[in-house]
Amino acid sequence: MNYNKRSVTDVDLHGKRVLLRCDFNVPLDPETGRITSDTRIRATLPTIEYILEQGASVVACSHLGKPKGVVKPELSLEPVAVRLSALLERPVIFAKDAVGPDAQAKAAALKPGEVLLLENLRFDIREEKNDPEFARELAYLGDVFVDDAFGTVHRAHASTAGVAAYLPAYAGLLLEKELSVMGKALDVPSRPLVSILGGAKISDKLGVISNLLDKADTLLIGGGMAFTFIKALGGSVGRSLIDESKIDYCMDMIKKALTKGTRFLLPIDAVAAKEISADAEWKIFPADRIPDDYMGLDIGPETRRLFAEAVSGAGTVIWNGPMGVFEYPAFAEGTAAVAKAMVETEAVTIVGGGDSASALEHLGFASRVTHVSTGGGASLEFMEGKELPGIACLLDR
Ligand code: AMP
Repeated sequence: MNYNKRSVTDVDLHGKRVLLRCDFNVPLDPETGRITSDTRIRATLPTIEYILEQGASVVACSHLGKPKGVVKPELSLEPVAVRLSALLERPVIFAKDAVGPDAQAKAAALKPGEVLLLENLRFDIREEKNDPEFARELAYLGDVFVDDAFGTVHRAHASTAGVAAYLPAYAGLLLEKELSVMGKALDVPSRPLVSILGGAKISDKLGVISNLLDKADTLLIGGGMAFTFIKALGGSVGRSLIDESKIDYCMDMIKKALTKGTRFLLPIDAVAAKEISADAEWKIFPADRIPDDYMGLDIGPETRRLFAEAVSGAGTVIWNGPMGVFEYPAFAEGTAAVAKAMVETEAVTIVGGGDSASALEHLGFASRVTHVSTGGGASLEFMEGKELPGIACLLDR
């Protein structure tokens, strides 16, 4: 996969209309419909401001939620237009459709320095089908295509891939940063490259584990997924989370680590309880000797020390997935210990989106790592080393 793509700073934008794919898929309060976090909107502001400074106009587009081709008023992007306008401190024009008459008329009337936001792309079923006609209609609204939505680069949709058949396509500033930091970390990292994986589901991370065993010097596994590995090695894990169907896969990965000479660390102790609750009584056990009525819910103190030590000696650290059920303070210590080790090292530190990013934010550490990826699923597929349609379609540098 070539990560060396042309960016918005490589093209003369003066007088142009820029079709900008943003990730405005913001969380909404289910009751009031209000935006509960505008992090994703803020993340794209530098790209929008840069484009406007070049004497161009912006036709911004995004999806929101999963309307699956049906117009759902509660998933309209209009509230995002209001928030974007407040953050940019300038008017944002809103089109009531994505490629229809309102969008066409408003895009045609757009002057340099103006911003238009189109209605939710996924109100049209053709978006997710990567329909060429929809992509062409979308492309008609701009002179240049810029993608700043890292969260959707793993999807081949009309606005993330199809549109590049009709317009020259560039990376926005946010996407460019994802590509340069994550691409470098995987291709030419400062070594040793230490990778930490956690979270519940091993099935989501099969490809990532395999690819990281090729690229990393050390792979640390925590979270619920560690227990399938421990069981594969013959340990007793009680009622811990297990994916029986992945035991063979875990053995294959352990063998791969041995063949490649990759240092592969599993938890040696675990915080375990009989139930997952805020006031559950917990005990610490060796991770491969958890009693039958207990489940492992966090990495134990010895493992925290071991993992922190590996992180402190790293040149690059890539972390994805919590070390325990961090939603409960009793089982959040392992995740906090890894986060703390990351902000204390001089290494390049990268956090794949999702739960590890929110844990980091919760601890107030988000600004103290090199990079927090803005896309959970996309950053996982990136770590798998897969070719991502939304990146492959951009012009090579
Ligand atoms: P994932 O979406 O696969 O990254 O998993 C994130 C979830 O994993 C979080 O909600 C955690 O509560 C959960 N998790 C982490 N460690 C464990 C564990 N030992 N047992 C059960 N769930 C866990």
